Amino acid sequence: MSNHSASTSPGTGRVYLVGAGPGDPELLTLRAVRLLQQTEVIVYDHLVSSAVLDFASPGAERIYAGKRRNEHTMRQEQINALLIKLATEGKQVVRLKGGDPFIFGRGGEEMQALAAHGIAFEVVPGITAASGVSSYAGIPLTHRDYAQSCLFVTGHLKDGTADLDWPSLVRLRQTVVIYMGLGGLSEICRQMMAHGAAASLPIAVVQDGSIATQKVVTGTLADMPERVARHRLKSPCLTIIGEVVTLHEALAWFNPPLNSATVSPTRPAGCVSP
Ligand code: SAH
Repeated sequence: MSNHSASTSPGTGRVYLVGAGPGDPELLTLRAVRLLQQTEVIVYDHLVSSAVLDFASPGAERIYAGKRRNEHTMRQEQINALLIKLATEGKQVVRLKGGDPFIFGRGGEEMQALAAHGIAFEVVPGITAASGVSSYAGIPLTHRDYAQSCLFVTGHLKDGTADLDWPSLVRLRQTVVIYMGLGGLSEICRQMMAHGAAASLPIAVVQDGSIATQKVVTGTLADMPERVARHRLKSPCLTIIGEVVTLHEALAWFNPPLNSATVSPTRPAGCVSP
């Protein structure tokens, strides 16, 4: 058996921290699929799509660990304790997280808790939202004509406010990707303009990237908060700010079968993307 088997010696528990990607199950890694089919327990977050969970072996126990903004189903300490308990019982556990577990996923904290208890673990990277969602929205994050760097930030901080390093966000020829930023969007647009970004800087908000309900709304720093409210975008949404957003018009390729919509200033709401 190869190193990449899920099995270890009998009685030895192990936790696999697995990235589930942004939603489309086709974006799972081979390693993730294999582990989902082999392990006995799967502890998953709310961002993991049901189509991804369909890869789990039918006999696997599934435990929902939740975690939505402001309504945590299980506290982080409870999740850590659960993983430790299951592994101590000798179970092979997949801890399944949306996107990549080491990018805004608190995967590092969970691994620290396991390491402190001497529990074996492995990390399986996934396609993070910045990468998966921008690809399905047809927005390259870098491009020789528009952006030489890309910054990933979270728009949601512990006290519920966006307290970002604004000067670093307004650099020229840079794309900014904001995770968890829907609630703080007005503040983010306002602060970026106050720190020197052009009011006309293009911005896109992508809801449900890579799945059938994907919606892309584009606009500018000046009009985006109003546009997002008008189109009633709901979590999960990824925000992409920078000149690269202008490429969406030409590069949008993903035509989900259901509810497909690209909403840009030049296209009326509900238009199917090209
Ligand atoms: N570890 C994850 C991120 C977890 S934070 C990753 O690497 O992708 C959760 C945030 O990710 C959401 O609030 C949203 O901003 C973003 N996100 C994840 N999946 C998404 C999707 N399918 N569409 C849009 N945004 C998504």
